Amino acid sequence: MTDDLTGACLCGAVRYRCRGEPLSMGLCQCERCQRQSGSAFLIATVFAQEAVQLESGELKTYAAFDADGMGLYRHFCPTCGSAVMITLDRYPGIRSMMGGTLDDKTRLKPSFSLWCSSAQPWLQLPAGIELFAEYPDGLIA
Ligand SMILES: [Zn+2]
Ligand SMILES: [Zn+2]
Repeated sequence: MTDDLTGACLCGAVRYRCRGEPLSMGLCQCERCQRQSGSAFLIATVFAQEAVQLESGELKTYAAFDADGMGLYRHFCPTCGSAVMITLDRYPGIRSMMGGTLDDKTRLKPSFSLWCSSAQPWLQLPAGIELFAEYPDGLIA
């Protein structure tokens, strides 16, 4: 039995709750995530769709489509702009919650990083984080 992970956007309008442990936790250093986060990487905390519940507020969505027409949807608070959640056509059963919005960030333990090929050169990730140059086939994140 584990405590639910809860989180909120910067202004507090959006609150969410995730039941159980995440399926995975990782970083994405792709150019798009750097832009959206305004930082060196974005922290993805991945849960099954049914484990995630939006408790208050509403999210706006920015959609981007890859060459195959599959969408990646970035859901954010329309008031404060916080990145809260990513959903993907490729993996409709998951919700990727943005680690910086968690109430208890001591539970963040990222185990891998995607898109190290576009990493900012000054950033040194700790040993033990599995590094992928791009997005490996079959990985759900
Ligand atoms: Zn907000
Ligand atoms: Zn990314």
